[in-house]
Amino acid sequence: MNYNAGNIIWYQRELLSVIREMNDDVRGEIVKIIRDNPLASDSSLMANDANPIGFIRKAIAALSKRWIDRFINMAMPTAETITNKTGEAVDRSLLSAARKDSMTINMQWTEAMLEKREAIIAENVSLIRSIPEKYFTDVEGMVYRAVAKGGDRKGLADEIEANFGKRHSITRRRAEFIARDQVRKATSDLSNARQQAAGIKRGIWLHSGGGNEPRPKHVHANGQEFDLDKGLPIGDKGQYVLPGEEPGCGCTWKPVLPF
Ligand SMILES: [Zn+2]
Repeated sequence: MNYNAGNIIWYQRELLSVIREMNDDVRGEIVKIIRDNPLASDSSLMANDANPIGFIRKAIAALSKRWIDRFINMAMPTAETITNKTGEAVDRSLLSAARKDSMTINMQWTEAMLEKREAIIAENVSLIRSIPEKYFTDVEGMVYRAVAKGGDRKGLADEIEANFGKRHSITRRRAEFIARDQVRKATSDLSNARQQAAGIKRGIWLHSGGGNEPRPKHVHANGQEFDLDKGLPIGDKGQYVLPGEEPGCGCTWKPVLPF
């Protein structure tokens, strides 16, 4: 079993292109409001000039509605597609392993697999929807903090523009992590269910050296045999976990063929 790099990249691209569009749109509108509407604290202005806070508040409300809707609309098809792609990759790799050993494997969908599939889709839908929600919470805080500090229009617009660059990087990195981690989790869950349906009961833990900070317990687990319906008691809190289940875990396993 291995994690399909092409599927991780596909998922990352789907998320990153919408995130870029969202950030460009929101940055463009907010920076324009700041440039066009002087702050009360700008001493070069007359006292009765309109304060931009009201405009900003309205703009953020409209923008967040637009973009949260957009992510809600893409969440289900994207989550279904990545789950299906992952399921196909899992099946291909099990079939080719079986073929190498000249074995035939029952590839029917079981109830347990259908349940896993539904759970994976639901988790991904909620993670995709959380991307704009988290982004707008951060953007709102960032814009109001900058405006509260005051200063001249030009300086403030430049500062806010730069801050949008930082928000974009943070959102992008979070989306990249979600895509990588979810493809791993889905691969681990679906492989596990598929292998158990095929009569495979045990696996051998294979530690992946790919991560930046490997968990010592996972390094130690390398080569140990475990029950596929249980895992090993090496989770961050001592609980039983399967390879690829914990955040950032890139470990895999080799199925022990009972035949
Ligand atoms: Zn691991």
